[in-house]
Amino acid sequence: MSTISSEKYEAVIGLEVHAQLLTQTKAFAAVSPDYGGAPNTQVTPLCLGHPGTLPVLNENLVRYTVRMGLATGCSVSEKSIFARKNYFYPDLPKGYQISQFETPICYGGEIVIELDEYDKRIGITRIHMEEDAGKSIHDQDPYHTLIDLNRAGTPLIEIVSEPDLRTPQEAYAYLKKIRQIVQYLEICDGNMEEGSLRCDANVSIRPRGQKEFGTRTELKNMNSFRNVERAISYEIERQIELVESGGEVVQQTLLWDPAKLETRKMRSKEEAHDYRYFPEPDLPPIVITQAFMSQVQAELPELPDMRRKRMVHDLGLSESDAETLTESRLLADYFEDVLSILNEPKAVANLILTEVLRVLNEKNLPIQEFSVTPGALAGLISLKIEDRINSSAMQTIFNEMITSGKSAAELAEALNLIQVSENAFIEPIIKQILENNPDEVQRYRDGKKALMGFFVGQVMKQSGGKANPKQVKDLLMHELEND
Ligand code: ADP
Ligand code: MG
Repeated sequence: MSTISSEKYEAVIGLEVHAQLLTQTKAFAAVSPDYGGAPNTQVTPLCLGHPGTLPVLNENLVRYTVRMGLATGCSVSEKSIFARKNYFYPDLPKGYQISQFETPICYGGEIVIELDEYDKRIGITRIHMEEDAGKSIHDQDPYHTLIDLNRAGTPLIEIVSEPDLRTPQEAYAYLKKIRQIVQYLEICDGNMEEGSLRCDANVSIRPRGQKEFGTRTELKNMNSFRNVERAISYEIERQIELVESGGEVVQQTLLWDPAKLETRKMRSKEEAHDYRYFPEPDLPPIVITQAFMSQVQAELPELPDMRRKRMVHDLGLSESDAETLTESRLLADYFEDVLSILNEPKAVANLILTEVLRVLNEKNLPIQEFSVTPGALAGLISLKIEDRINSSAMQTIFNEMITSGKSAAELAEALNLIQVSENAFIEPIIKQILENNPDEVQRYRDGKKALMGFFVGQVMKQSGGKANPKQVKDLLMHELEND
């Protein structure tokens, strides 16, 4: 947003997020929703919309949705119902989608997002359950659209936010937070690029100070976090320019074009569907018992915000280190697995945040595929803490551990990196270095104390990296100051 227009206007944004649930079977049919199968193999007569088939509710669809509801402070309806959302499309063989309409299972929660300058609570209007449609494939046959119904009936939750977001950055932070929570809850893999997390954005603008909301547009087809931020920025600009030049925002649905970095019209309000929602007659109301609630409550893991705060308060980590470590649950687990063997939070955090994350980034690996086990990493850090290796040896050994599968102790021996602190080993080297560099010695004694770094470096090099640098420095001081 240009500064002049952003002083004059404020954006209002509400997100509708769909998360594909990691259940073993589909929402209402006993078949796996796994991707990757040959087209139309993961289907039952129900998924194909055959007459006479009846849906049976997957209990885990309810369980996972309630987990998300509890994790976001929602109320859970004791009784809610499914509804049919009717529309005609080739990838929807039943002619309707089973969803929830008037009574969502969860409602009235909130998510706290953290931005650089401030934290903010974003209201969650509702979380409801629904099933996915199949897929139309337009690019494999020059004359026909092909249909793959493997995805039909995959369980989804839709998380609808209040129109509480004000900037594209807030929308981005909100979406990241949703991903983090569903991953912690192990109910969705959170992959936007592959479509297991999808987001529609509702965007409007209003003059600052005005209470009423402006007319909104709905943005679809943003298949990455960056694209959500970009598309919303683009749309805010477009609406401001439109209004500034005397035009009016029209309520419509827009498609984001990630190649052209712009939105284009999909349908206007006049063309909008009338879904003729009505209660699903083939499924009974969903009744949540107190026992079920306590069960789900007991299954909840420590959530990311709590975990981050605990790492700051109990382990003494900085806010930003704790934030990076808790970004994914598996990384946080890895960190705490190392701690369970070696209780040195800062040293362990340091190595993970620098070396481990560097390697994961370079190799584009998730932490669960990292070859160095928490136990092996603890072994390496112990060597350093016990002063048996120095920092540069730690790095060398770490790099070797990744490919060799050997322990830090074995590698330290094999690579001859066990640190030597004995004066008998270090002193002759110091003597030689001082003899070889008489000018530097003179300059040091004349007051150029910064040369200490040079001497330590030379001695370390000569020792093959094995000398204890602290000991080297002490002995050098002694030599240089006392003759
Ligand atoms: P629909 O059923 O047409 O999708 P909803 O009332 O459920 O409409 O709202 C969908 C989303 O749009 C919600 O996230 C809500 O916060 C957001 N929203 C509603 N009004 C506005 C507005 N004027 N500007 C921006 N977002 C809005
Ligand atoms: Mg909508």
